[in-house]
Amino acid sequence: KKPIVCIIGRPNVGKSTLFNRIAKKRIAIVEDIPGVTRDRNYHDVEWEDKEFTIVDTGGFESETGKGSLEASMVEQTGIAAAEADRVIFLLDGQTGPIADDFAIMDMLRRHEKPVYIAVNKIDAPSHEKILLDFYQLGVDEVFPVSAAHGRGVDDLLDTVTEGF
Ligand code: GDP
Ligand code: MG
Repeated sequence: KKPIVCIIGRPNVGKSTLFNRIAKKRIAIVEDIPGVTRDRNYHDVEWEDKEFTIVDTGGFESETGKGSLEASMVEQTGIAAAEADRVIFLLDGQTGPIADDFAIMDMLRRHEKPVYIAVNKIDAPSHEKILLDFYQLGVDEVFPVSAAHGRGVDDLLDTVTEGF
């Protein structure tokens, strides 16, 4: 069985965009409307000599009306983390870390899965100033990426797939 790498994070951080870039296929629907991806999407990936399954989670958005957004997001995060071998926690480099991100981080700490912190929408070196803010999540390393342009994605994957 191939190892499973799951992309988690709150709505609109760019999970589906990153998934599509990694999958190199247009599997998940990416639109400018937050909440468009309803279900998880899986795609088998060959990265250099490694094989794994990448998972895009989008379930948080469909839970509106059934309890708080934060509660369903944390629950979905837990489900995704439980089935993953490794987790990419994707954050929004245009907003900095917000309360929901800390809630997800707390949940992830309870799972003993390797978590890789990727800050998306770092489209240019001039956007990197905000990266320091993400160390408030209590992590040692932050990977800047631009899912839209591909910047940093190879470095992220090199680290995430170490040992596969
Ligand atoms: P998801 O809800 O986490 O799956 O996020 P999406 O992949 O649907 O992306 C949400 C929005 O962020 C869309 O408008 C994307 O075009 C935009 N986006 C995604 N990646 C990037 C990026 O690397 N840079 C910028 N500037 N925008 C991005
Ligand atoms: Mg999505």
